Parts: sequence; C-alpha cells; structure tokens
Amino acid sequence: MEVLVLLVIFGSITMWIRMRNQHAERMAEIEAAKIGRLALPQGSSIDPASQELIDQRLAHLESIVCSVDFELNAKINRLASRQLQVAPPAVHGGAPTVTRGPGPDAPTAEVSPQGKTAPSLGLKPGDCLADRFTVERVLGHGGMGSVFLARDKQLGESVAVKVIGGFALLDPAAAGRMRREVSTARRISHPNIVRIHDIGESGGVLFLSMEYVAGPSLLDMLSRYGRLPPRQVRELFSQICDGLEAAHAEGVIHRDLKPGNILTDDQQRVKIIDFGIARTTHAEGMTSTGVILGTPEYMAPEQVKGGIVDARTDIYALGAVLYHALCGRPPFAGSTPIAVSLSQLKENPAPPRTHVPDLDEAWEKIVLKALAKDPAHRFQSARALRDALPIQ
Ligand code: ADP
Ligand code: MG
Repeated sequence: MEVLVLLVIFGSITMWIRMRNQHAERMAEIEAAKIGRLALPQGSSIDPASQELIDQRLAHLESIVCSVDFELNAKINRLASRQLQVAPPAVHGGAPTVTRGPGPDAPTAEVSPQGKTAPSLGLKPGDCLADRFTVERVLGHGGMGSVFLARDKQLGESVAVKVIGGFALLDPAAAGRMRREVSTARRISHPNIVRIHDIGESGGVLFLSMEYVAGPSLLDMLSRYGRLPPRQVRELFSQICDGLEAAHAEGVIHRDLKPGNILTDDQQRVKIIDFGIARTTHAEGMTSTGVILGTPEYMAPEQVKGGIVDARTDIYALGAVLYHALCGRPPFAGSTPIAVSLSQLKENPAPPRTHVPDLDEAWEKIVLKALAKDPAHRFQSARALRDALPIQ
C-alpha cells in the first residue's frame, strides 16, 4: 500500500519534471527569440551592453532551473529515506529473506560504533540476509542505505554489505540499472579500488557485498585533524589517482568522489569505494544529475548542470577533495546545497594559500588546475594529475 502511494507520488513528480522541462525549453525559446531580436541586423555583432544583459538573463534562468532541480532531488531524497525508515525488508514469494538473530525483535534503529542512531532497515547483529550474510554490526549509513559488517557464509570471510532500500522501491527500474553499473565496476581490478563481490535482491531491498576495509576514511581523518600535511596528502593522492586511472581505462566514472568514499586499510593503502554506484538511481524523466544523494561540495559544474560527465568530472572532484585535504575545508561552503552548487558553477575558489600561507605554490597550481570550470582546462587524466604531484 505504502509502495503504491509512493509510486503515485513518484509518478506525479515525474510528470511535474516533464512539465518543468517543457517550460524550461519554452523559456529557452523565448530567450533565444529575444537574443535574435537583440542581434543587430545586417550581420553586425551584439553590442557589449546587450550581450551582458543576455548573459545576466541566462545566468538567472540557469539558477532557477538549478534550484528547482535541487528542491526536487531533496524531496525525492526525503521520500526515499522515509521509506527506508518505515519499511523493514518485506517477505517475497513466501520465503523469508531475513532470519532474525537472537535478541529483542525488529528494532528499526541501530547504534553505530560512533554512537549515532540511524535507520538500518531493521537488521541487527545476528540477523541473516539472503540466507548468506550474517550481520555483525553497522559500519555506517549513507544516502542510499546502510552498510553492515557481515560474515559471508559462501566466501567464509568478513565482508561489507551495503543494503539499499528506498530508491529500489520508488523506482523499480533502479535495480536493473544498478546491476548493470555494478557489473561494469566489477571489471576493475585494482589494489586501490574496493573489490565488489556480488549484488543481489532480497525482499525488495538491493544489497551489494564487497571487500571490507577496516581503516579510517579520509573524512574521518579530516574530521579529526582538520587538514593533512602535504607529504601525507601526496601519499594518499598518488594512490587515489592510480585507482582512478584504472577505472577510467575501463570507462567507469566514479561520479561521487568525496572524502567519505576514500577509505584506508590497516596497511595505509587507499581503497576507493562506491565506484559507478552513486547516482545511478535516476528516475525516468529526470535530468542526468539523477537523484542528488550527497552534498555538492565536490561536484563539477557540468555535473551540477546535468551536462555530460566524463573522466574529467572525477578530476574536478579530486581537485575539490585535494583542496579539502590541504586546506581543511572544501573549496566552497554554503548554508544550502543550492548555494554550494551555484558557487561550483559561477565562483572561483579562494586560492589554497589564502588558508594555508606556507603551502608550496606547486600544490596551489595543481588544485586550481583540477578545479577549472571548463573540463578542457583541467588535467585530462588522473595519471597527468598524479605526475604533477609535488615531491615532498
Ligand atoms: P555515502 O552515501 O555517504 O557514500 P555509504 O552508504 O557509501 O555512504 O557508506 C556509509 C559508510 O559505510 C561509509 O562512510 C563507510 O564508513 C562505510 N563503508 C562503506 N563501504 C565500506 C567497506 N567496503 N568497508 C568498510 N566500511 C565501509
Ligand atoms: Mg559511500
């Protein structure tokens, strides 16, 4: 029933997006017509004042479309997370997909090691998912669902299981897309990329099992130390670049590089997670930005605009993460995701040395080049960025 109601809401939202897109197109036509009128006859060029007016209007329109997109994404996000909280894994085809471990029945919240309480799809230690994964504890919660440390009976080892609920229920095609993305991501075999074992579906939730990485994430490190010394940044980022280079060679774009998706294992080796997984849960009719799950702090302008993303979109994100690691803050901060996104589109970041005056100039150059608004002005590959990292 809840699913039905959500589907109806979802359908209405999709229709609204279509109408909005048509409206945006119409506005663009009107704007184009105005440009045509403003253009002087007999092939003479537009005077600078008119050009400025046109640019201003276009920029204003762009901001409106961008804001509406974010509002919508935020709404779908809220709907999905509500669904996550209200829907423990359902029983499909008469077969129970989750067998309960000992203890009080079906709590809908777990306490993570950090002591945070969050929805965990009703799974608790001792529960068995899909007759294969015995849940040990919660590792974390993210935009798409929760991640558990579990014992994989089939492999006989500890694995991380990411359980995704809401979007799969809202958008039935998400499962298929997710499978396709994951099968591409599985082709990448590299020491700096988390290995994906399997993807499955159980009682209306999608799950993904992968290599478990014990160490802290870059987000943990930055939360603890603020910023990191350049020597350590170099060590981490040369590995991140190696991993990215291998993925790009397979045609896989990460699309959600951020400190929380960069983990380290107990030998200080970098492991990038969430490859090709993030933002594959587009709803039909949505722009190619899909559903914005995270914060836009590390998002390239072309991604914010819903344009074409390629390897250089990851280079921008890498530049933003690099900025954060060296300066202790991301390039743009704002009180809302819209404000941050607009900064990604329009503003130039403060040069890193305004925050860290004794930073070597070579670092500043690299960061600013990676953060170029135009993809053509960035490093064209992860290897090129790696080769430019200062030795210190
Ligand atoms: P987000 O949407 O913020 O990227 P995720 O759902 O990807 O969040 O992950 C939530 C948390 O689970 C991460 O911050 C990380 O700490 C933990 N996690 C995810 N994958 C793994 C893994 N393979 N090994 C260990 N911990 C993991
Ligand atoms: Mg993640």
